[in-house]
Amino acid sequence: MDFHQLAPFAAHDTLSRGRRYQESKPEYRTEYQRDRDRVIHSTAFRRLVYKTQVFVNHEGDLYRSRLTHSLEVAQIARTIACALYLNETLVEAIALAHDLGHTPFGHAGQDSLNDCMKEYGGFEHNLQSLRVVDELEVKYAEFSGLNLSFETREGILKHCSIKNARELGDVGERFLKGEQFSLEAQVANIADAIAYNNHDVDDGLRSGFISIDQLREQQLFQKYYEETLKQYSKIENRQLRYETIRRMINALVNDLIKTTNNRLKELNLESIDAVRQHSSPIAGFSDAMLEQHIELKSFLMKNLYRHEKVLEMTGQAKAVIKLLFKQYMEHPKKMPEEFYQKALMCKYKNKARIVADYISGMTDRFAIHEHKRLA
Ligand code: MG
Repeated sequence: MDFHQLAPFAAHDTLSRGRRYQESKPEYRTEYQRDRDRVIHSTAFRRLVYKTQVFVNHEGDLYRSRLTHSLEVAQIARTIACALYLNETLVEAIALAHDLGHTPFGHAGQDSLNDCMKEYGGFEHNLQSLRVVDELEVKYAEFSGLNLSFETREGILKHCSIKNARELGDVGERFLKGEQFSLEAQVANIADAIAYNNHDVDDGLRSGFISIDQLREQQLFQKYYEETLKQYSKIENRQLRYETIRRMINALVNDLIKTTNNRLKELNLESIDAVRQHSSPIAGFSDAMLEQHIELKSFLMKNLYRHEKVLEMTGQAKAVIKLLFKQYMEHPKKMPEEFYQKALMCKYKNKARIVADYISGMTDRFAIHEHKRLA
């Protein structure tokens, strides 16, 4: 992106804090374009197509996978970034990478692997996403990982415990100092929430686990559902659903841009470091929109993510992860050669980390396949 189109508080790649291993400058790309391209070419990115958040991958071809989720996040984040004169390519790189460390079976898989890892330092998907780009991808002769820029790595690490932050060096520092990450990272983070709230309404309705009547009790949905019906009284159900969701996304994005823009005007920040040193995150919704956004999120939590059918699947997913973890810990030879060799060479605690790396990299269907093989 042209330097002049960026706000002073945006991430300018010429002012990047750089990469862990020095590399020569790309010839025709910016540094963040190079990061985005490395994410797209990664093995972990390709696997997102067979990983899920709410539904297990084989339950239906029409539900979102983590890949389509990540693309929707990137799409929303780029719109917001452009409107705020932020670095569009950096938000795209962060958005595409944000879920790379997710286990198979979405939240159920993450909780289960975290349980298994309790005595060995736990498992955090955010930290794992960073581990994927910093360590686990094998693509270059000179270093392990993808050697991404500091700003992309900073954006991937949304949350982190203080204990882990201490061991992370540069990207962990902000958690110790109570600082923020860049506006690009803040935008990618909120775009994530906008994307999943809305596509889970869509997937939830399609699955039949939640109903239009229930959703009409949520302010945000009701407002745009009514608005659409008023405009098109004879609209077909599916069109009505998509029109409503489309309008919800639009309202959230517009509110976020306006609110954040007003805050930025007031603050008059002169650099990305001023963003980092600000006392609180700057990107955000107005109070009224935040309330509606949280209402919808809580509704989905209660009625979709904890729906008995989803929980039934969740229970099965947890059992799969538990068995795989136990088997590989006891018989590391059952893992592929490269993981087995790594496990052989390290102490018990580190062996558990290698097993967790192997399991978290699996797709839903591969994990099920492995479970059948080893059970
Ligand atoms: Mg996400």
